[in-house]
Amino acid sequence: MKVKAFICAFVTLLLVCPGLVSAQGDVQNVEDYVGKGKVTSLHLLGAKAASMAMEELSFARGNDHVLAMTDAGYAMIGGKTTEKCIDGVTAVSGCTIGNGNLLLIHRGKEQPLWFAFFRKDTKDLIYLEVKESVIGKSVSEFYTLSGAEIFTKISKTNIGLDDLVNNPDKWTENVKNEIFGGNEFSLIGIANIWSNPKCSYDFLQAVQLHNHVCPGVSSGYLIIKYLDKKLPLQRGQRYKIIACPPWCKEDAFQAILDTTVGKRGLYVKGLTKEQKEKLPQEAKGIAGLYIRWDDKTGSGEGLALGFDFGEVRKLAGMENYLGPPWVSKLKMNEIAMNYLDKPETMVTTLKRFTVNADELAALQAAGINPLVEIGLMQ
Ligand SMILES: [Zn+2]
Repeated sequence: MKVKAFICAFVTLLLVCPGLVSAQGDVQNVEDYVGKGKVTSLHLLGAKAASMAMEELSFARGNDHVLAMTDAGYAMIGGKTTEKCIDGVTAVSGCTIGNGNLLLIHRGKEQPLWFAFFRKDTKDLIYLEVKESVIGKSVSEFYTLSGAEIFTKISKTNIGLDDLVNNPDKWTENVKNEIFGGNEFSLIGIANIWSNPKCSYDFLQAVQLHNHVCPGVSSGYLIIKYLDKKLPLQRGQRYKIIACPPWCKEDAFQAILDTTVGKRGLYVKGLTKEQKEKLPQEAKGIAGLYIRWDDKTGSGEGLALGFDFGEVRKLAGMENYLGPPWVSKLKMNEIAMNYLDKPETMVTTLKRFTVNADELAALQAAGINPLVEIGLMQ
């Protein structure tokens, strides 16, 4: 009876508030998706973001040209986790993880909760950031809220790469004004690389963890492609990586190779300015040590690899670009996708070496410079 009364109240509400009419189908979709009686205000929050985006970007449920992104599930509001919003987004927009058009962008729990939707055919992106005060509203209260009462920021703009490269001043201003809540570089980069037909889901896994695309994380992906060719794993083997020096690339290794820090797959070692200066010329582009480790034999084969960012910049035509550095980074991301089967264009082997268990332990130990240890520098 209670449900019936609520539906009556809801229908009445729809009649007096025409702006909410489109929500009727959405509510049905959410209920069908998560199950009767299981709908929460967090589901409705994701659903509301999706339905507003569908209206603003003019797309119907299940449109494959649309990408949904959110940090729901990572961002927490009022001490509560937000994963239920994700099902609300899927129920209404039809964007799913399996279809590759729902990306869950990793963020710290203190970060604001947001949703973004992008159409690859028009290059329009809409960003909606949630008002913290909306959390704690009951389901029935939630139905009465307008978009402006739910979201603190709703911005829509075209993010085509050409526009960014050709109008650096406009985009410097947009970034300064935080049109996407400070997520400009993150959302523009991810949306554009997702549109690239050469971009596959394993790279998007790295991007979701790293929460942006950059030449650094792309270099990690190219290094993985290089290892596939030059140091492929056999059954029972795994990589041991000495990240010396570390940069964004390590997040690609953790996401794609499962060489996580916690499982001792990855040891991070920085280089001081003096150490960098002492590197011989041929090792200036050092990108770390990659060891194919075999537990059974207690031995490993290693490669010291270098990565040439100058080459990527040149191929992207960005050598003399004077606009904002983050715009040239977007162009460089595109180049990485063109060289997935030719990673040796940027990745080179600086030195080969072998290690036993004691030698591996030494490379990983505190206070030891692994580049000296393998004889790459004095
Ligand atoms: Zn990065």
